[in-house]
Amino acid sequence: MWKPSKDNEPSWESPWGKGRPGWHLECSVMSKKYLGDKFDIHGGGRDLIFPHHENEIAQSRCANENEVFANYWVHNGFITMSNEKMAKSQGNILKINKLKNEINGQVLRLALISAHYKQALDWNDKLIKESQNTINKWYESYINLKKSVLVPEEYLNPLYDDLNTPGYIANLHKLFEKSQKGDLKDKEIFVSACNFVGLLNEDKDKWSDFKKSKVSITEKEILAKIEERNKARDSKNYKEADKIRNELLDKGISIEDKGGKTFWKIK
Ligand SMILES: [Zn+2]
Repeated sequence: MWKPSKDNEPSWESPWGKGRPGWHLECSVMSKKYLGDKFDIHGGGRDLIFPHHENEIAQSRCANENEVFANYWVHNGFITMSNEKMAKSQGNILKINKLKNEINGQVLRLALISAHYKQALDWNDKLIKESQNTINKWYESYINLKKSVLVPEEYLNPLYDDLNTPGYIANLHKLFEKSQKGDLKDKEIFVSACNFVGLLNEDKDKWSDFKKSKVSITEKEILAKIEERNKARDSKNYKEADKIRNELLDKGISIEDKGGKTFWKIK
């Protein structure tokens, strides 16, 4: 509860010499001041369960003569980067302000909720790419909602179970499949269910603009590449033709041959 202070640390006189409140105590005092003797949800990283949170509970319950300190404890797992711990000391900290300029907000959200909050999440290019592909696919069922509709309880259930977001995402996939085969109502439910967790919350044009902004090749260059590929195919140089197709794919452009013509689109 009370720690001796080093020379360069703030300190107060006490019967045991100069010291300061320990940091477990600081949290008990702050929560009492701002939230009262008892409050609803206490968060924190998994690494704080012991001793920090246990000490907070012990102190606050004694000081406030309360049976309960916080009604719910929400302990999150860590984000690793390509399987290395994210830490200031490692120099691999991701800042949300920087990320949101590079990655669409929906993609960020889907990537972050793809693991349960209690579990570790590994942040890597594959995760971002997969999340972006999923959102892109889901836009096939996008409709402009005037008003969101009720999502059937059976699909929401995972969220009631300690915020089981991977379970909810699995249900979003099911609703997507339904919406592809079903009618307008199914699409309304699917888009509402996505909106509920901050997905498909931009209209289709905005999503296309985002995709275009990620393409690192101009239309003129694309047409030149297609021309080059056609020449390669005419001279039966299929290896070269495939190479050009893959080059375009890497730049976010897919091509399709139909009726003797080649069409291209942004992936
Ligand atoms: Zn604390």
